Amino acid sequence: MSEFVMTIGGDTPPAEESFGVINPASGEVFAHAPECSPTQLDAAFDAASKAQRDWKSDEGVRRDALLKMADVLLASSAELAPVLTAEQGKPLADANIEVFAAAIWCQYFANLDTPAQVIQDDDEALVEVVRRPLGVVAAITPWNFPLTLAFWKIAPALLAGNTLVLKPSPFTPLTTLKAAEILRDVLPPGVLNVVSGGDQLGGWMTGHPVPRKISFTGSIETGKKVAMSAAPDLKRVTLELGGNDPAIVLDDVDPEVVSKAIFAAAFNNNGQVCSAIKRVYVPESIYDDVVDGLAAQASAVKVGDGTEADTKLGPINNAPQYERVKELVGDALSHGARAASGGKAMDTPGYFFEPTILAGLSDGTRIVDEEQFGPALPVISYREVDDVVERANATHFGLSGSVWGTDSDRAADIAGRLECGTAWVNTHLALSPQQPFGGFKWSGVGVENGPWGLAEFSEIQVVHRSKGTDGLNLNTGGLVS
Ligand code: NAD
Repeated sequence: MSEFVMTIGGDTPPAEESFGVINPASGEVFAHAPECSPTQLDAAFDAASKAQRDWKSDEGVRRDALLKMADVLLASSAELAPVLTAEQGKPLADANIEVFAAAIWCQYFANLDTPAQVIQDDDEALVEVVRRPLGVVAAITPWNFPLTLAFWKIAPALLAGNTLVLKPSPFTPLTTLKAAEILRDVLPPGVLNVVSGGDQLGGWMTGHPVPRKISFTGSIETGKKVAMSAAPDLKRVTLELGGNDPAIVLDDVDPEVVSKAIFAAAFNNNGQVCSAIKRVYVPESIYDDVVDGLAAQASAVKVGDGTEADTKLGPINNAPQYERVKELVGDALSHGARAASGGKAMDTPGYFFEPTILAGLSDGTRIVDEEQFGPALPVISYREVDDVVERANATHFGLSGSVWGTDSDRAADIAGRLECGTAWVNTHLALSPQQPFGGFKWSGVGVENGPWGLAEFSEIQVVHRSKGTDGLNLNTGGLVS
């Protein structure tokens, strides 16, 4: 693998220290990433700050740059996707989809119209509501979709006229570092800075005086720390955090059909998706059929190294997460759950775990109540719809959820009662750049994507032009005290 470098002010800073990056398919270090020092971080924020002065001034330039970024990303797929597979573990086909998604997000925001809103235009005044950039954005990403989630931030932040300092996860820094290096030809120096390092670097970023906004994707636990760190100087925050998505199956479905769809949405990216299905509620009347259907899928799916052509599920990304999945599955089994499929780590090098379907367990078991973020799915039975909706909502999580039924109006009615940011009907994980994505409760603050996500990278400014003839029209209409 080639050398991986940070991008600060359009340049490569000298690597003072580095850390190893592990290929989860082997468990071995295969490359190194630079460890950003506090001085280098200062330099990155300084470069971003200086670059923002020009970058904010011409929206046309920004739109053109985003379109070029998309082209360059697509042309670099063959370089980026293998790095992503090596550091993240996902199959090469999925890694290519991530690169593609990054480009699509750039294209979407390049073409998103952002008109000023005129809220008054009469004899007295012309009043417009416009959006102004925040300044420098500090962006922090997790290890499950390093590239896609980076571009969920980069594309709207840049269109809005901000510049960025972005830090990928220490488990998966390489693809993001490489993408920033490739994009140096397209973006002015300092507009996109990518630094790498451990969790401590994230803390330095959120506490740094320069950024006016933190855009964070990661766990709830870290999200709370980010919110606290951003509070003293009132930085804006968008927090995209963990989920424990319920899927509620209704009694009028075909168990075989629904099992296939639910398996796909639960085991996408080997279950390492914030909004994957993480617990399935099934009516008693069809419980065994759905469990059998899910187990059949789990037993048949090919697990392996992401570089092998027929691999559908790769390893778990990292050792702590691997240990956590083992612990949660072990806990469920020791409390009486049955593994209808899988149930244990695979006897191979790397962080491979058998795709696992757990039956005969209930709310109160850790793997039902907590976010497992891996290839293990609990299936829980229910009798009454009202009761299951209450159980689905009885959690601090609120990212997304889904309801599955042949009568889609009935399913939609029930989905609307879920306390979560996205309520799907007969689908799950259907995401797009125009669709806002965010969580209720502890699953997040704010949204990404669409005009709503773009708005979070700006401040509202009211431009109020008096049409009074004397130029000193100070009549407040008695509304200002
Ligand atoms: P994590 O919270 O451990 O780490 C996320 C990022 O935060 C990493 O870059 C890490 O280095 C950094 N970080 C760690 N401590 C920090 C601190 N004190 N201050 C600032 N930054 C810090 O999460 P993870 O394990 O990488 O990712 C998995 C979690 O992310 C899961 O809970 C998953 O559901 C969630 N996630 C949410 C979304 C979403 O859009 N809602 C998307 C993907 C993943």
